Amino acid sequence: LVSRQKKPTDTVVNIGEEIQIGNGHQEFVFGPCSVESYEQVDAVAQAIKEEGLSMLRGGAFKPRTSPYDFQGLGLEGLKILKEVGDKHGLKTVSEIVNPNDIELAHDYVDVIQIGARNMHNFELLKEAGRASKPIFLKRGLAATINEFINAAEYIISQGNGQIILCERGIRTYETATRNTLDITAVPILKKETHLPVFVDVTHSTGRRDLLLPAAKAAFATGADGVMAEVHPDPATALSDSQQQMDIPTFQSFINELRQ
Ligand code: PEP
Ligand code: MN
Repeated sequence: LVSRQKKPTDTVVNIGEEIQIGNGHQEFVFGPCSVESYEQVDAVAQAIKEEGLSMLRGGAFKPRTSPYDFQGLGLEGLKILKEVGDKHGLKTVSEIVNPNDIELAHDYVDVIQIGARNMHNFELLKEAGRASKPIFLKRGLAATINEFINAAEYIISQGNGQIILCERGIRTYETATRNTLDITAVPILKKETHLPVFVDVTHSTGRRDLLLPAAKAAFATGADGVMAEVHPDPATALSDSQQQMDIPTFQSFINELRQ
């Protein structure tokens, strides 16, 4: 069902009444890696609003490599994200990791993210397929493009065709970057499917100095949007402190991209 052979026209993902993604409509998703506090999310949201943008991300359920690392604020994090989003008129995106939380997520987020570590969690994908919110599906850590497309197929097979695919880098032998951004995935996914395609420049590169070139490459290869992490004080961030942009860096990033 996600194949372009079945449906030649681009799918447009609608977020609320105002936002459209795909078929020439481009968007950005910015926000902190983790929701840490109201003040932290509010500072980022204000900067996003000032740039005239409309979407805010923030992780509440964090799938961390170590069980001893910050695991996110859970439901409290979703509540903060929603409160800040409503205050600034921003649509919210947050990751859900448990199929039982998909229903609850409807009250707090406008877009449900399925993270890289859960791209192969078929029960979660099926539950996302029964959701009435758009799904932001990230490519698995070592997933082939075919496996990625099949993960989207799991979602659409249950009735939800409002899916945004997100290339976020894959694991290779290269260590210069956190993951290897598979930029050719963008035109391949656009060719093989009718779904909008995003690039996550933060987790794919893991390097602040590569965020801008990676974002330029994303748009040059036909991406419908870019996601990146922004934190008011990255050095003190409870997750991904090495790679989030501070607010002035975010402002120059978006201005350079617009040029
Ligand atoms: C995220 O976007 O918050 C995240 C954890 O990314 P990924 O699932 O791509 O590692
Ligand atoms: Mn992160």
